[in-house]
Formats: sequence, structure tokens, C-alpha cells
Amino acid sequence: MRLFVAFLFMLISLPANASDISLKGDFIQGGLIIGKTRPGALIALDGGKVEQSDDGYFLLGFNRDAKPEAQLTVRFQDGTDARRQFKIKKRNYDIQRIDGLPKRKVMPSPEDLKRIKSERAQIAKAKRLRVRSAYFRSGFIRPVKGRISGVYGSRRILNGQPGRLHYGLDIAAPSGTPVKAAAAGKIAFTHPGMFFNGKTVIINHGLGLTSTYIHMSDISVKVGDIVVKGQIIGKIGKTGRATGPHLHWSLRLNNQELDPALLF
Ligand SMILES: [Zn+2]
Repeated sequence: MRLFVAFLFMLISLPANASDISLKGDFIQGGLIIGKTRPGALIALDGGKVEQSDDGYFLLGFNRDAKPEAQLTVRFQDGTDARRQFKIKKRNYDIQRIDGLPKRKVMPSPEDLKRIKSERAQIAKAKRLRVRSAYFRSGFIRPVKGRISGVYGSRRILNGQPGRLHYGLDIAAPSGTPVKAAAAGKIAFTHPGMFFNGKTVIINHGLGLTSTYIHMSDISVKVGDIVVKGQIIGKIGKTGRATGPHLHWSLRLNNQELDPALLF
């Protein structure tokens, strides 16, 4: 009996170690990792602080051009540390040419540029909203079914002019097709008609993870609404800079643009 008690004591007082950390996802450029460990830990990725939910969840993201290695450090409440080193898989990205866009949408006027700048500021503000609940625990679904007409990370040539990098997944579907929330979350932003994005919705899934839905023809949620995974948030359209009806769906973790296609 005494031996058993001693053994039990040993088990309880075992220091925390790396096996207390669970990580799910792909260690690849554009990838999202869902982590969980003991609540109250201090977590850092390559020295940058990583937020943790009260129930122990945290998120790691690797952007389009992430370095080949990353290091995670965790300091547990009992003062012990754990360290993990990862290899981040490198990707090759496409070049996509898109022609037939209205000239104004490729070469905006000074007045348009003013509008674009103000709209970008509104988005940046919405993305700073902090949500500590781990809504992303719901898991993810594709917001709409259809042909993939554009992929993450590609370099774009618009009407023959070099454009910005394309972050997100384009899914072509008929106008009016319902668009669903990819995961549970809080509506952080809606806009009835942005210069490039058209009708726009941003959902905050917690801990700095947001998903954005643009070019829609209709929006059926408002800022502050809590949505469940699969809830209809709007309809497919071609508002903003689009050559045909499709959803541009993007995923972001704080300042990192991630690839939503890697969620599946
Ligand atoms: Zn797109």
C-alpha cells in the first residue's frame, strides 16, 4: 500500500514534458496547426508570443514563404519547459493570368485609391478584434461546393499587369448559391460593397484566426452575430473585382495569410 501511494505521488509530481503538447495540422508553408497543452502555459513560436485559450488551445501558422525550420517553446505553470523543432515543407506556387477585368479595377483612379485605402483600414481594424474562445474547435467545412478557379499563393497577372499575390481559394458556383460559415465564430466585419472585395464577411474563429468571404451577392449576418459551422452567411455573387460568380475564401492567423485548402 505504501509503495502504491509512493507510486501515485510520483505520477502526480512528474514534471510536464513535451508529450503534454498535442499538435494537429500540416507543417508546410500556408499551413495551420491546432495545438493543445496545459492551460496557463507561456507559448512562443520562434520567440513570438502565442495566445492560448482558457481551455489550453493555441494556434500556429506558417505563411507563404515561411522559413524551413521553426521552434516552439512552452513554459508550463510548474516552471518546467518543453521545446519542439519543426521542419516546414516548401511549396511551389502558380502564376495565373486573368484578362478581361474592367480597366478601373486594375488601374484605380486617385479617388478609387482613397476609397481602397479607407476600406483596407476598416478591415485591419476588424482583424484586431480579440476573441479568446477557441470557436475553431468546431472543425472546418468548405463554405461552398464548386470548381476551384484560383489557388493560394499564386502570382497574378491582371490584364497583362503584374498584380498582388493571391491569398485564398476561389470556388466558382452559380450566383445565389448559399455560402456557409467554414467554422463556428463571431462575425467581425461585414461590408455592402468594397472596391475590390464587393460584399464581404469576416468571421473571427478565436485566437487571431479569421476567415474572409468576398464577392458575394447577399449577406445574411451582422457584426457581433455568433455563427455555427455550416450556417448560411450569404450568397455567391461577382461583386467587386471578379470576372464571374465565385467565392474568394481566405484564412488568416494574425498577420499570416494561410491556405484554407490545407484544412482538409
Ligand atoms: Zn480570389
